[in-house]
Amino acid sequence: MKITLPFLEETFNKFNKEIFDGQLSEPVFEPSRAKTFLGLCVRKPFTYQGKTQDIWILRFSIIIDLPKEQLEDIIIHEMIHYYIGSTGQQDSSAHGPLFLKIMDDINTRFGRHITVSGKLTKEQREQLIDKRRKWHVIAIVRFKDGREGFKVLPRVRESILRYKNTLQRSPEIDVVQLVWSQNVFFNRYPVSSAFRVHLSTNEELTPLLKDAKILQL
Ligand SMILES: [Zn+2]
Repeated sequence: MKITLPFLEETFNKFNKEIFDGQLSEPVFEPSRAKTFLGLCVRKPFTYQGKTQDIWILRFSIIIDLPKEQLEDIIIHEMIHYYIGSTGQQDSSAHGPLFLKIMDDINTRFGRHITVSGKLTKEQREQLIDKRRKWHVIAIVRFKDGREGFKVLPRVRESILRYKNTLQRSPEIDVVQLVWSQNVFFNRYPVSSAFRVHLSTNEELTPLLKDAKILQL
């Protein structure tokens, strides 16, 4: 399942009661499409009429698909950061001895499997790649020595032409062909007009470009 705002609120309230004796006031929940983290706890000082208050933001990736239990563990992990920060306790680092003590205690008492690792597994990273279909401008580049590659270009006429014309003038290059493709494979590649090529093979590219359309400029 994926994290939604109602799931966040429900989970926060449940564990606030069960684990933190209801000591945490409701933070700002921020569902995020970020691809670099699962959860984050952020403190933002906010000054109003000369008084500074902290606003706490719990931010979670809504793209990652995990079993409910694991999502709960990720939420509780951020709640520990929130608890330490909002009660003014000091730890020597983000996951210092105080964090670890609270985490181990919760794991033992409530049978959870919270970890300190914010690192994503290979599968999780793969999941975070945007799966939405969108149109890409792809330059298919064939080198005279038989190599082949591609580049995802910005959808801007001048940038596309500059890329094509510059590469086309290079003595190593046989042909640069421009196509439109909706294949989600290309979502993971940065869009830029840098004069580079991601090397690939005809065997890899042909099936990926099966539905591509020739781009005429
Ligand atoms: Zn953490």
